[in-house]
Amino acid sequence: MSTVEPFTIEQFYKFLQQGKLMASKCQKCGKIHLPPRPLCDNCYSQQFSWIQVSGKGKLVTYTIINVAPAQFQALAPYAVGIVELENGQKIPGMIQDIAREQLKIGMALTLDFGTCSAPQQWPAWPRYCFKP
Ligand SMILES: [Zn+2]
Repeated sequence: MSTVEPFTIEQFYKFLQQGKLMASKCQKCGKIHLPPRPLCDNCYSQQFSWIQVSGKGKLVTYTIINVAPAQFQALAPYAVGIVELENGQKIPGMIQDIAREQLKIGMALTLDFGTCSAPQQWPAWPRYCFKP
């Protein structure tokens, strides 16, 4: 048996760097946590397994950030949205490669790894973004 990677945000980002979007699934109640957490907020179990989830989803809501924190100033204005993935999970992320006039609630977006513009302050900011 291989050792199971710890269910931490750091490990989550390590998987992202490998191009995999991974969530933790509670072995007791089946709840899926994305990003993973060490304790199930539904049944308080600490028994999890990693599952890979699809990075395809649709835009639920978004805002345009005009005044950004210092480290993101170079990227502003930029869009940040909540995307509902195919498995029903909702995750926040920056939306890139699209003009803001083209942003539409319900549009299809795909999680992108590795090619996103972001400051190199790992793991302060997720190394992923959404693109059409
Ligand atoms: Zn649980």
